[in-house]
Amino acid sequence: MEYYSKYINQLIEEFAKLPGVGAKSAQRLAFHILNLPEEQVNHFAETIVNAKANVRYCKKCFTLTDEELCPICRSDRRNHKVIMVVENTRDLAAYEKTGKFDGVYHVLHGAISPTLGIGPGDIKLKELMERLRDDVDEVIISTNSSVEGEATALYISKLIKPTGIKVSRIASGVPVGGDLEYIDEVTLLRALEGRTDM
Ligand code: ZN
Repeated sequence: MEYYSKYINQLIEEFAKLPGVGAKSAQRLAFHILNLPEEQVNHFAETIVNAKANVRYCKKCFTLTDEELCPICRSDRRNHKVIMVVENTRDLAAYEKTGKFDGVYHVLHGAISPTLGIGPGDIKLKELMERLRDDVDEVIISTNSSVEGEATALYISKLIKPTGIKVSRIASGVPVGGDLEYIDEVTLLRALEGRTDM
């Protein structure tokens, strides 16, 4: 027996697809939306559609931006010869918050994970290697300290080694399996300053 209108069920189903949202939260969110004034719901829906329509990958570093090149890649105050490799845009934001890194980034959009069937071709690795044809002094690998992050770091360092470009890895001290974005700035800075050659 159906308790709710099919429209409500559809709304609950959509919320349940979101990461970290269980069946109960999905119901709560659906009913919250239904209780909002119509204009607020329209504004919310438009915001989602606009974000999706306007946000794209930076042509160079693949972070999310609404321009062809992100502000970091466009800046002449950044050292374009030092590239920090991160798994996602949230990790980039975590390093930017420290205000102490003046290089540029490369966003992989994931990590190699054989168990999840994510191979080197599924992340922005080829694009990183293409960037290394430019004048680059150092690549700092700041993938997470999860199994996938470590495997990805090792894979990348093996790829880069033959080019003669310096490859380093942020220091451990970043909690194992911890998402970079949840780590405080001091820990992040210590990890960056204590990086070691690979
Ligand atoms: Zn960029």
